[in-house]
Amino acid sequence: MAEKKTSKNKSRQERISGWEWLKGKNKEIDAYCQEYMSFMSEVKTEREAVDYVKKVIGAYKGIEYLENRGKAIALWKKGKAGLKEGIRIVVAHIDSPRLDLKVNPLYEDTDIAMLKTHYYGGIKKYQWLARPLAMHGRIAKEDGSVVDVVIGERDSEPCFTIEDLLPHLAQKVQYNKKVSDAFEGERLNIIVGSRPDTGAKENKVKKAVLDLLKRNYNIEEEDFVSADLEIVPSGPAREIGLDSSMIGAYGHDDRSCAWAAVKALIDAKGLPFTSVVLLVDKEEIGSEGNTGAKSRFLEEAVWDIGEKLGSDIIPSRVLFRSLAISADVNGALDPDYPEVHEKTNAARLGYGICVTKFTGSRGKSGSSEARAEYMAWIRSILNKRNIPWQTGELGKIDEGGGGTVAKYLAEYGMEIVDMGPALLSMHAPFEIASKVDLYSTYLAYRAFMEEK
Ligand code: MN
Ligand code: MN
Repeated sequence: MAEKKTSKNKSRQERISGWEWLKGKNKEIDAYCQEYMSFMSEVKTEREAVDYVKKVIGAYKGIEYLENRGKAIALWKKGKAGLKEGIRIVVAHIDSPRLDLKVNPLYEDTDIAMLKTHYYGGIKKYQWLARPLAMHGRIAKEDGSVVDVVIGERDSEPCFTIEDLLPHLAQKVQYNKKVSDAFEGERLNIIVGSRPDTGAKENKVKKAVLDLLKRNYNIEEEDFVSADLEIVPSGPAREIGLDSSMIGAYGHDDRSCAWAAVKALIDAKGLPFTSVVLLVDKEEIGSEGNTGAKSRFLEEAVWDIGEKLGSDIIPSRVLFRSLAISADVNGALDPDYPEVHEKTNAARLGYGICVTKFTGSRGKSGSSEARAEYMAWIRSILNKRNIPWQTGELGKIDEGGGGTVAKYLAEYGMEIVDMGPALLSMHAPFEIASKVDLYSTYLAYRAFMEEK
């Protein structure tokens, strides 16, 4: 690096791009992103994320884990200091916006068999119409057995879709309405068949679909009641641009941070404190439930670590003394809609990991704000290691807003700050991330684990 560190950080207004910052590191950036793309192409649900991560860490000594019902997981690596001095936590969520099947999903209309859905998280409904979709999930049978399905990802198998109205007839029911009214949740029905069982008396197509489900997956209609079936965009992660500088994928929010945290934990050496990577579910619907960040799973994990290390600890006291990163994405300055951002404080694609001091909306409501002293320490480790970073506030004041899991962990009294890459098309079926931001995110989480 020829430039002086000070010139890069002279002023947030005179930021330089992450590509300039990491000039000469293209090989490392691409190697990291190749692995990330494999992860993103295979993993579309929280369950799949937990399974994949378990498989990956199995190859490394020194990383242990505690799993929460297949949908959340805490990974950890021992540090030099005792647990009583606190731990380092990187928390990310592994659920993404999607369409869940209703518990009674299957019906037939107009000689087409369809599955009813209830959307999960903040989606723009029209983005899910007329595109290839896949079904991922688990069906639990009464006898205790489970059937895991992934249908619609391979070229050799069929996919699913939701139909959309032809433009010729869309005037009244779509074009003349507000976008929020034009697309209704009850119309997000998945097409699953149209070939009738010619021997049946009624509901011939539904009957044929049920026969197929029985034959191919041993699933009865009532089994939908005890299932977690998620409809997600079909297809792998792809490089974007003539220069392949970006990655398009479903679920960068927040599996880009989850992957960076896992890789950082694997590669981190000489840890001063025990480091924990906590991957949680249900963030997109408010961190609810027994697998979300509001559950007491983190406490349980700290108990477990204490037991394994033979350390007599009280989890709440350990957590009070801990430092954390709420590893989540932010929105990048949108070139097509710049008016929703306040440019001086908006994160930019390609400018490194985004450190977000506070989130929330309408007067920081719902935010867990990082205090000045903690921001200073975070800044110091990023600058010390010459890691591309920027700050970002999600949109203009009163334009909207959002929150993360930070406030739920802050309840324990730990220091916590939001940090992750800034995305374009956030929450869309195909989100855009910059390779240099993804790599910077990994470097930053690793620095957080390794620095005193
Ligand atoms: Mn998120
Ligand atoms: Mn989100």
